[in-house]
Amino acid sequence: ILAGLFVGLDLISTLHDPWFLLADETLLWLRMGNGLICFVGLGTVINVYARSSRQSERDLRNMASTDLLTGLRNRRSLTDEALLLAAERQSVNHQLAVILVDLDHFKLLNDRYGHAFGDQVLADTARLMNRTMRPGDNLARWGGEEFLILLTDADMDRAICVAERVRESISDQTFHTDDGRTLSITATLGVTEWRVDEEFDICISRADDALYLGKQNGRDRIEVARPG
Ligand code: GH3
Ligand code: MG
Ligand code: MG
Repeated sequence: ILAGLFVGLDLISTLHDPWFLLADETLLWLRMGNGLICFVGLGTVINVYARSSRQSERDLRNMASTDLLTGLRNRRSLTDEALLLAAERQSVNHQLAVILVDLDHFKLLNDRYGHAFGDQVLADTARLMNRTMRPGDNLARWGGEEFLILLTDADMDRAICVAERVRESISDQTFHTDDGRTLSITATLGVTEWRVDEEFDICISRADDALYLGKQNGRDRIEVARPG
């Protein structure tokens, strides 16, 4: 609108005889002043628009990569990060490891104490796990009551050590129900190494197999799958 107004007025001024006779110098100043106001205004509008669209993009990106309940990365975000790490690994010789964490008998907990209480337990457990991570390690809510930890710079021994620490901290935490009871939960964890030459999915499915074994072997334990 501003640009159109400027061009229109400029055109009228050249096609019509002047309504008021002004000195050439005044005319020149008026012309320059009008131009300045128009383009500064336009620049400001563009700047405000660009900033707000950048902010919206950041918000949308954040929403698309964050799990609403726990505030952790979601599955998509961690998968993207894994692909980045895999590409980076070509130059930096990182050892990567994966830990799949599944809370035990969570359906029973929901059935007994309600879904809202289950949500609270999930959010608290996510916060707790987040506190045990080192900078550079990645934690995500992988699905319902499952979390995935992607460790960077970690051999199998370190991965087992982290998994054991996570398992212990989960079973050590306590929750208070509305009717005054105190309870705790447990988790089963599947640990594996992410080999350089394999797809992320293959590594995840090996961690899942280890987790399944852990469930079969009595839960509240870690189980290790070594790549063949
Ligand atoms: P297991 O020890 O074999 O893992 O048993 P489980 O009951 O934990 O596993 P199952 O797969 O049978 O049930 C998972 C439960 O997790 C069922 C589902 O209602 C609950 N769940 C998944 N997502 C959420 C959530 O966002 N909030 C709550 N409150 N519960 C959830
Ligand atoms: Mg599960
Ligand atoms: Mg479970």
